[in-house]
Formats: sequence, structure tokens, C-alpha cells
Amino acid sequence: MNSMQYYSPNTINEYRKIYSGIADKSILIFSGGTDLMVGRHELSQDAVIIDISGIAELKGIVKKGDKIHIGSCTTLNELLCSHKIQNDIPILIKAIKTMASEQIRNRATIGGNIGNASPAGDTITPLVVLETKIEIFSPESNEVRTIPIKTLFSGPSATTLEKGEIIIKIIIPLRKDEDIFCYFRKIGQRNAMTITKASLSAIAKCSDTKIEWIKLASGSVSPVVKRMSKTEEFIKGKKLTPVVINEAKEIIAKEISPITDIRSTKAFRVLITKNLLKDCLSALIKR
Ligand SMILES: Cc1cc2nc3c(=O)[nH]c(=O)nc-3n(C[C@H](O)[C@H](O)[C@H](O)COP(=O)(O)OP(=O)(O)OC[C@H]3O[C@@H](n4cnc5c(N)ncnc54)[C@H](O)[C@@H]3O)c2cc1C
Repeated sequence: MNSMQYYSPNTINEYRKIYSGIADKSILIFSGGTDLMVGRHELSQDAVIIDISGIAELKGIVKKGDKIHIGSCTTLNELLCSHKIQNDIPILIKAIKTMASEQIRNRATIGGNIGNASPAGDTITPLVVLETKIEIFSPESNEVRTIPIKTLFSGPSATTLEKGEIIIKIIIPLRKDEDIFCYFRKIGQRNAMTITKASLSAIAKCSDTKIEWIKLASGSVSPVVKRMSKTEEFIKGKKLTPVVINEAKEIIAKEISPITDIRSTKAFRVLITKNLLKDCLSALIKR
């Protein structure tokens, strides 16, 4: 009879060796476990779990030139308490503040939120508008590859990661010279401990009267989080009049493809997304 196996490597090299020794390579990567433990009853009895949370190389936040490097096993609370993240990536702080509870945030990792690949994952929309890159380690080739985060997701709970590949780093470019507006808001059943029905992340740069550029990503309203590029293109270079805002709301409604599920209806998700965009653009005008 097979039984569940559990490994906890301390280095990436140890991870590679453990992986090489597993015959059928059907492993489950475990980081904070806050998503995985919820579905633990579905785990097969012969699952091979590799807990990467003890790998020191996967922890920490470092500023390197014009980028911030975050180890994938860095917890949400470590990010929340980081002065580097507070000063340089406030949109991520806005998002994490809305996530789960103190206890969950002490275990939950940024790599796990990305690896879970939920369209409702709250760190994902900010990371997408920030044009984040993801560093991935392959135990098969013993190599590291880097991809834009937007190419990591292939569907709800599905990624383009190959067998055994793990996310090792999240690399966020910094926009040093500019006074950037940032916005994150999610709508759920209640204010705390709530799963997103729909969310919106935005960063933007404006001159005195016009929007120079804006980057938008909507959460929980399409199979994968993606940029709202038609809406961005429409808003770019315009003055935010009520007519422009109303037209932008109609464009974003056409860019999303929400479904009706246990948490919300398609129609309500469309309405929320339009209203979030209005709220975001109104905040931009007040600024
Ligand atoms: C009560 C509660 C409230 C929650 N609230 C929120 C919320 O408000 N917003 C939100 O977005 N989420 C929420 N979550 C979900 C969860 O806490 C987050 O998604 C968390 O960031 C997952 O991280 P983890 O380290 O616990 O992941 P794990 O559970 O360890 O892993 C999650 C998935 O990612 C994979 N994975 C983990 N690390 C890596 C890696 N380095 N490389 C490749 N794949 C990897 C795993 O194999 C698994 O498929 C909540 C969960 C609970 C239980």
C-alpha cells in the first residue's frame, strides 16, 4: 500500500536532488499550505509533498538597481511590514491589507498566491499592472528561466509551469522618476476575510490635465488575470470628463468575461467592474 511522502529541503539544490529521486515525478509543492490545506481531503494517499518553505534562498526582499526582488516563500505579513515594499510598491501593500487574516498572512506566501493561479488571487492584479517578471527553477534542466507574470497563467488554477518547476523569485521593476498614482480595490461578501467577487488594480501617470498612461488589471472576471488594454488605450492622453469615464466603463465591460458561480453572478461582476473603474478614475481626478 502506498503512503503519503513528505520532504522539506533546505536548499534549491536539495530540492533538485529530492525531485530526481522521485520516480513518477507527481509531486505537490507546498509553501505556506493555506490554499493546499483547505483542499487536503482531495489529496491522494500516495501524494509526494515537497515543502519548500524551509529554503532560505526563497525568502526575503532585496532592492537591486531599479528592481525589487522578492523570494517566492516570503510571507504576506513580511511584505506588509517591509519598508521597501511600503515605500516603493504601495499598490501591493493596499492589496495585501485586504487579504485573509493576521494568522493566515503569517503563513501564506506570495509564491503560493501566484502558484495557486486563481483569477481572484489578490496579489496578482497589482503584480500584472507592475509588469512583474517571475523567475522559475527547473529541477530537470537545473536552470532558471524568467517570464513575464502575464504568461504564467493558462486558466483558472492552471499555470504554464513544467513538471517540478518552482517559482523562485518575483521581480518588480521600480518607476523611480515619476509620481505614480496607484489603486487597488476588491469587492467581496464583507470587508474582512473575504474572497474577491471582482477587483481592480491600476497605476497611472497624469500631467496637469490629461492621463499620460494608465495600466489596469481586473481580478475574478476572466479565466486569468489580464491587462485591460483596450480600456487603457482609450483613456491614454484624455482628460477625464464624465463622458470619457462613461465610455471607459462600457469598454472595460466588453473586455472582461465573468461567469456566474457560487460567489457572484456574471451581471453583478460586470456592474462591480464598471463601478470600480469609475471609483478609480474619480480618485485620479481628485488627486
Ligand atoms: C481563511 C483564508 C482566507 C484567505 N483569504 C485570501 C484573500 O483574501 N485573498 C487571496 O488572494 N487569497 C486568500 N486566501 C488564499 C491563500 O491564503 C493565498 O492564496 C496564499 O497566498 C497562498 O500561499 P501559500 O504559501 O499558503 O500557498 P500553498 O497553499 O502552499 O500553495 C498554493 C498553490 O501554489 C503552489 N505553489 C506554492 N508555492 C509555489 C512556488 N514557489 N512555485 C510554484 N508553485 C507554488 C502549490 O503547489 C499550490 O498549488 C485565503 C485562504 C484562507 C484559508
